[in-house]
Amino acid sequence: MTEVSVAKEDKAATDELVVLKSVNKHFGALHVLQDIDLTITRGEVVVVIGPSGSGKSTLCRTINRLETVDSGSIAIDGKPLPAEGKELARLRADVGMVFQSFNLFAHKTVLENVTLGQVKVRKADGKKAEEKARALLDRVGVGAQADKYPAQLSGGQQQRVAIARALAMDPKVMLFDEPTSALDPEMINEVLEVMKQLARDGMTMVVVTHEMGFARSAANRVVFMADGRIVEEATPDQFFSNPRSDRAKDFLSKIL
Ligand code: ADP
Ligand code: MG
Repeated sequence: MTEVSVAKEDKAATDELVVLKSVNKHFGALHVLQDIDLTITRGEVVVVIGPSGSGKSTLCRTINRLETVDSGSIAIDGKPLPAEGKELARLRADVGMVFQSFNLFAHKTVLENVTLGQVKVRKADGKKAEEKARALLDRVGVGAQADKYPAQLSGGQQQRVAIARALAMDPKVMLFDEPTSALDPEMINEVLEVMKQLARDGMTMVVVTHEMGFARSAANRVVFMADGRIVEEATPDQFFSNPRSDRAKDFLSKIL
């Protein structure tokens, strides 16, 4: 009996992929993240919503250590985020990030954008990296654009390349910070569809978005932030039909 329960505990522990405990961060006098406790389980899709300035981007940036925290801890797959060095680079590579602005290398081809990190960070063999890049570009529907430069692609295509580039690193979790906010309306769905497929394939995802349709259909959990705090967490059904806090009610009344 004892052995069985130990095994169960081990499994529970490893199912927690991203764990933030009492995370605090200031920008000068601004307390931008306040006592953030957040656990993201393997395979879970968490949508983070909230008013502008509530700390959503900062939260994402602390998870892959683009920002330091003042106190508290962040662990990825059981390993605490170290301050610097090689170990940080390794852990950071486990966290894929897609930004609002696509951040592709302008002077590299689409294919090179997707092979570069594999070769440099993951030390992949060039030919293998290219095969993988082509497969990923096909998967996000831009295989035919492999030899073009980012500026020759539409915004929606560029963002799908950015997703392929992040996936090429075999991340354990993908962070999306308003990935469709800079896109023309007709391109939003093609990017959301790729993200939904990724979710169906079991990728662990943290998605900051104002796309409530995506939140409803793809999220396992909605995290609502305001003024640097997690004010409410719920399933999408609960959150959209019956928000508990006044802040969430007010926010939803403005966007829905
Ligand atoms: P959100 O993504 O929810 O709109 P952010 O995380 O970008 O919010 O920002 C939260 C707050 O922190 C805002 O008031 C913003 O102006 C401030 N902020 C963000 N980045 C910095 C920074 N590098 N230096 C100072 N203030 C910042
Ligand atoms: Mg933001």
